[in-house]
Amino acid sequence: MISSQSLQYRFGSEPINGIIKSLNLPIQIQFVEEICIFEQLIKLVQISEKLENFSKYFTNSFTLLESLKPFYQTIQKSLNQGIDVKNDVLEHCINMQNLIIKNQLKYLENEKLLSVSDMLLVELLEVVNNMYPNLLYNNFQILYQYLAKVLSNNFLQNYYFNVEFMMKDFSPKIKNAQNILKGIIECNLPTFHDFAQCQGILYRYKEDGQQFPDNCPVSLFPLYINYDIIDDLKKKTILQQKVVAKMGMDFEWYTSILGRLAKHDEFIRRMIQIQAKVEKSETKCPYTICIVRNDFLHNASQNQWMQVEYNCIAISFGFISDRVQKYHSLLFDSYYKQIKENYKIKVKQDLNHDIMVDALHKAYQLYNNKNAIVLIITAEFEGNVYDQRYIEKGLAKLGILSKRTTFIKLIGNIISENGILKAFGQEIALVYFRTGYTFDQYENEECWNIREMIELSKALKCPSLNTQLVNFKKLQQILLDETQIQKFITKDESQLISENFCKIWGFDHEDQHDKLIEMIKQNPYDYVLKPQREGGGNNYYDDQIIPELLKLSPEQRTEFIVMERIKPIPRIGFMMRRGQLDIQAVISEISVIGYFINEGENILVNEVGGYLVRTKRYLDNEGGVAAGYAVVDSFMISDN
Ligand code: ADP
Ligand code: MG
Repeated sequence: MISSQSLQYRFGSEPINGIIKSLNLPIQIQFVEEICIFEQLIKLVQISEKLENFSKYFTNSFTLLESLKPFYQTIQKSLNQGIDVKNDVLEHCINMQNLIIKNQLKYLENEKLLSVSDMLLVELLEVVNNMYPNLLYNNFQILYQYLAKVLSNNFLQNYYFNVEFMMKDFSPKIKNAQNILKGIIECNLPTFHDFAQCQGILYRYKEDGQQFPDNCPVSLFPLYINYDIIDDLKKKTILQQKVVAKMGMDFEWYTSILGRLAKHDEFIRRMIQIQAKVEKSETKCPYTICIVRNDFLHNASQNQWMQVEYNCIAISFGFISDRVQKYHSLLFDSYYKQIKENYKIKVKQDLNHDIMVDALHKAYQLYNNKNAIVLIITAEFEGNVYDQRYIEKGLAKLGILSKRTTFIKLIGNIISENGILKAFGQEIALVYFRTGYTFDQYENEECWNIREMIELSKALKCPSLNTQLVNFKKLQQILLDETQIQKFITKDESQLISENFCKIWGFDHEDQHDKLIEMIKQNPYDYVLKPQREGGGNNYYDDQIIPELLKLSPEQRTEFIVMERIKPIPRIGFMMRRGQLDIQAVISEISVIGYFINEGENILVNEVGGYLVRTKRYLDNEGGVAAGYAVVDSFMISDN
């Protein structure tokens, strides 16, 4: 009955077409040509009362179609004639933003139902977003947030965030900039693949018993960001590090929280047992060193980068990230020259990625014995070996030798004499853990004994067990409580970092479980369920959450936290894995890397410097780089 076809051009095609289809209209709506959606939407409003499905998604109680008409006509003119209408667009954006401020477009308030005007405005803003990238993001925050809010509606997402749609030209006259980029990349892919390897963007793969290097999964086009944001996240990471450093000094405090989890979590239990011995020991090392990575995702409807988690152990991709920035810079100077000029952007270069080497170097010096070495404990096979080796190489450049090994290889080869740690006959100044953050990484009892021996020794460790213990996600939840976080930082400081904290709920009180489960049931897409685990692949999303919670006893649930879901607006990502191109709707996670060193209760150093951008497919909920979903990326900033 309905003859609507998938259209060749973007404006007014699948989203509106698809939505109209799903309404099962009892009348016929025909797409006469690409750009006639205004008339169709008017028709839709006229008949909406008769439509059974309409009220599921839409409200027609308030439509502002007529006020959108001038904006629509401007865009239509531009699409038809291929002319630049930027000044007109700016004026319309101001008007639209005023309408939203005056609360005439209701979506921000009433999240469940879209009006037909909302749908048209989204379509127009999507066109603006593509014709003038970052115009909304930089100048019309309210419009941008409005767009984000509407698009995070699950029903619309399926239409808007599919690659085919995102790549479509807008009209025969207005090409999609993504296609120009795609052309350049496809043409030069073998070159880009080799360049990545020349640049040191490497990963070690294992196939059929063979090990070989190839490019580390990498993005071929960086994320656009305003540099003020990076500055802000840096400041907040210094505060976060201060909190972590101080939490780690308060054994009684963190065991009062983790103690309950330890009852049924052997990993936490064993770590607390060892740390309890360390606390009592007279010969322990007075210093604590920890390299921290603070992760953020952009919550578009708030226009705020929200903290995903902070990490205190085995921080990876510090080096590769620096290489990727240089790689993108090279591409912008050459193959993307035109794009760079058009968009007035530059890739940030002056980043200090040697911060991890700095951190270990400073820690090494505190031990004060030039003959001692650094012990690096890793897994048996490490795909990300080059990223680890650069640290070794950086230390070697400073005249410091390292020994790379595993817990298993240390069995029978490590001893502690009066607190002096010796491995393979050499004195150890510093132990750097790139493994040991999950239970199965301690393969047997002897591995646990080795960890205990290391912790009780005078050698420095990065991180020492106390900071590893305050890395648990449960503490992230506890820090939302003002009185708790203000034990460690001032009220002003806590207010500042809390701006980027998501809501988190715990299962601490059994009488509140039903209420929490009911809240998630209402909108499972708005939450993430997380156990006390690190390393990716452990969380539950969407329809997985409720069944998992119902499987657990009330006591078992205490090990989980429920976190508000952060929802970014995806962009088109160009990802390269082992020379193959993958074009997808993607989102990016930004991390700030830093470190602190304590001596007893004094924080000696607290610095940040490095950044990591990881980009992953929008439709994959997690996606680590090592797991093959995410790629290492960088960011570009405006050139003025
Ligand atoms: P892990 O310790 O396993 O790295 P994370 O808390 O970092 O656990 O979660 C893994 C990934 O899941 C993150 O990198 C992010 O992509 C996604 N994720 C985690 N929390 C959220 C959230 N609140 N909203 C959206 N995505 C999230
Ligand atoms: Mg993580």
